[in-house]
Amino acid sequence: MKIYMSGKLVGEEQATVSVFDHGLLYGDGVFEGIRAYNGRVFKLEEHTDRLYRSAKAIDLKISMSKEEMNAAVVKTCLANGVLNGYIRLVVTRGVGTLGLNPETCKEPQVIIIAGGIQLYPQELYDKGLAVITVGTLRNHTEAINPRIKSLNYLNNILAKIEAMNAGCMECIMLNPQGFVAEASGDNVFVINGTTLRTPPSWCGALEGITRATVMDLAPHYGYTVKEEVLTRYDLYTADEVFLTGTAAEIISVVKMDRRAIGSGKPGPIAKRLEQVFREYAASTGTPIT
Ligand code: PMP
Repeated sequence: MKIYMSGKLVGEEQATVSVFDHGLLYGDGVFEGIRAYNGRVFKLEEHTDRLYRSAKAIDLKISMSKEEMNAAVVKTCLANGVLNGYIRLVVTRGVGTLGLNPETCKEPQVIIIAGGIQLYPQELYDKGLAVITVGTLRNHTEAINPRIKSLNYLNNILAKIEAMNAGCMECIMLNPQGFVAEASGDNVFVINGTTLRTPPSWCGALEGITRATVMDLAPHYGYTVKEEVLTRYDLYTADEVFLTGTAAEIISVVKMDRRAIGSGKPGPIAKRLEQVFREYAASTGTPIT
């Protein structure tokens, strides 16, 4: 496998990071997870825009233009023959001293890995996911704002550990006000009738690219989409609940806190959107040429 590291494609053995990189020492950096379908990178510009917004929010200046970054992503896919897969784009603060001071880091490190994708097993799409609400709250928006896709994912990892210890693959995280924020690695939607609702980003949700795609597509199929403050009440009483994310795409939630959601089976609207999303994703994107 060839890895892109600050301007060059190198072999896996040479693709190493310094122990003084603040990405490693402090989780000081930003990242993106991107998919390739049928020889095209899905929503590449949207991902790059979010990456640069995340970088700006942590006052990290990326020394490449967005166009150069997009070209580097395509080049890395090509070098690895990745036409369907998962791309991880990482920008760390770079090598500095052992102290916190980011000014000691002179050059951000850009890493691009294009590889395979680990999806949930098909069975989970057929049967739906069970989730629990975890005690770990999503970060306060004035701490590490959840809109920043930063390398510091410990908040989400602690939530994931709680979920796994309870026998669930995913969880629902609340914000410090008690409103629903998102899952540990996905956004959340509820459906009542033909209306879809998802929490606004200020409630502690990442502005997911899959979330935005669902919000764009759903009205074409007769559904209304609203960003609305949600509480657990809204999930417990929903007809359907589903999660969205680059890796998961769209997956139904059928149980929450050991209670059945709706019929306790994946609902028809989430299933339809799952199909609509897959067809759309297979037909659009930046060509890998
Ligand atoms: N929320 C969090 C915390 C995430 O890490 C992700 C990405 N895995 C998402 C939501 C979904 O975002 P996207 O659709 O852009 O992958």
